[in-house]
Amino acid sequence: MSDNNNKLSLTTRIVIGMFSGIAVGFLLKFLFPESVLVEGYLTKGLFHVVGQIFISSLQMLVVPLVFVSLVLGTCSISDPSTLGRLGGKTVVLYMITTAIAISFAIFAAVLIQPGSGVELQSDATFEASQAPSLAQVIIDLFPKNPFSAMANGNMLQIIVFALLFGISMALIGKSSDRLKGFFEDFNEVIMKLVVILMNLAPYGVFALMAKLFSETQFETIFSLGKYFLLVFSVLILHGVITYSLILKGFTGLNPWIFLKKMREVQIFGFTISSSNATIPVTLETVTKRLGVSNKVGSFTVPLGATINMDGTAIMQGVATVFIAQVYLVDLSIADYAMVVLTATLASIGTAGVPGVGLIMLAMVLGQVGLPVEGIGLIIGVDRLLDMTRTSVNVTGDAMVSLIVAKSEGELDKDVFNDQNADLKERDISEQL
Ligand code: ASP
Repeated sequence: MSDNNNKLSLTTRIVIGMFSGIAVGFLLKFLFPESVLVEGYLTKGLFHVVGQIFISSLQMLVVPLVFVSLVLGTCSISDPSTLGRLGGKTVVLYMITTAIAISFAIFAAVLIQPGSGVELQSDATFEASQAPSLAQVIIDLFPKNPFSAMANGNMLQIIVFALLFGISMALIGKSSDRLKGFFEDFNEVIMKLVVILMNLAPYGVFALMAKLFSETQFETIFSLGKYFLLVFSVLILHGVITYSLILKGFTGLNPWIFLKKMREVQIFGFTISSSNATIPVTLETVTKRLGVSNKVGSFTVPLGATINMDGTAIMQGVATVFIAQVYLVDLSIADYAMVVLTATLASIGTAGVPGVGLIMLAMVLGQVGLPVEGIGLIIGVDRLLDMTRTSVNVTGDAMVSLIVAKSEGELDKDVFNDQNADLKERDISEQL
C-alpha cells in the first residue's frame, strides 16, 4: 500500500526524470568527453536501449488506440451531419491557429532580423524530396487496404477507415451492440496500457534526455544563437500566451488549469519529438483530465497530431525570413502571404514525426524562390527546436479539442476544473 501524503505525483516524477536526464547528460559530456566505456555502455548502451524501448512502446499503442477509440466515438453519433460539422470546425480551427502561429513568427523575425550578420557558408547542403500534388494528397486519404494503412501507421487513412466503420456501425443500430461492447473493452485495455507506460515514463524520459544531452554539440547552437533563441522564444510565447488567449476567448475556461494539466503531454512531446507517438498520452489527458468526450477527442487528437503543427509553422516562419536574410533576398508582403498559405497547407498530410518540419520547409522555400540548400544552415540546431515545437504542436491539438468539445456541448467542465481528475486512476502503484 502506498502512502499518498509523501508520494510524489506522476507529473513530478516525470519532470524529475527529465531534468535529471539533462543533468546527467551534461555531466557525462563534460566529465567523460572521450570515454569509450561511457559511450559504449551508457549513452549508446543502456540509455539508448531504454529510450528506444520507451518510444517504440508508445508507438505500438498509437494505431490500435486511434482506430478503436475513433470507431467508438463515431458509432455513437447517430446524425451524420454532426460528424460533418465536427470535422469542418476542427479542420478550420487547426488551420487558423497554424496561420496565426506562422504570421506571429514572421512578424517577430522581420523585427529581430536573426539572419543579419550571419556568414553564408558555401557548404550548406540539403536534398529536398518531391512534394506530392494536392490531388494525390486527397486521393491518398482513402486507404486501398486498411490493414496496410494500419501497418504503415498512415494516420489519415486510419481515421477515414475508422470513421466509415463507425458510421456503418451506427447505421446497423442494435445489431452492432456486441461489436461495440468488444471495442469498449478493447479501448479500456489499451488505455490501461497507456497509463502503465506513463508510469514508466520517468525512466524513459531520463534515458532519452541523458543520451541526447551527452551528445549535443552546443557550439553549433551558439553560432546560430539569434535564430535559435528567436524560434525558441516565439514557441514559448505562442504556447503560453496565444493559446491562453484563444482558449479563454473561445471557451471562457481557465488557461492556467489547461497548461498545468498539459505538462506531461508537453514533456512527452518534447522528449520524443513526435506528435504522433504522443497521441496516446494526449488522448488520455484530453479525455480523462480535461473533460473532452471520447466522441470529440478520439477525432480531434489524432487528426491534430497529423495536420496541426503550429510549432512547426513557427520554425518555418522564422527560418524562411532567416534564410532570406542570409542569402540577401528581399521578400515582399505577397511573398510572406505565400509563406503563410503554403506552410498552413503543407502541414496537412504530413505526419507528426521527428524532423518532418524541415522537409516541409523545403516546400515553403521553393514557393517563394529561396534556395532549399538554406536548410543546411539551420539543420545543426534543429534537434532541440524540434523537441520544443513538438510540445507546442501537441498543446495546440489539445486546445482545439477543448474549443470544439465546448461548442458541441461535449465538455465536462467539472472534470476540467477538478485538479485531481484521473490522478488516482493514472497512478498504477495505487492499483497494485
Ligand atoms: N516533430 C514534429 C511533430 O511531430 C514535426 C516537426 O516539426 O518536425 O510534431
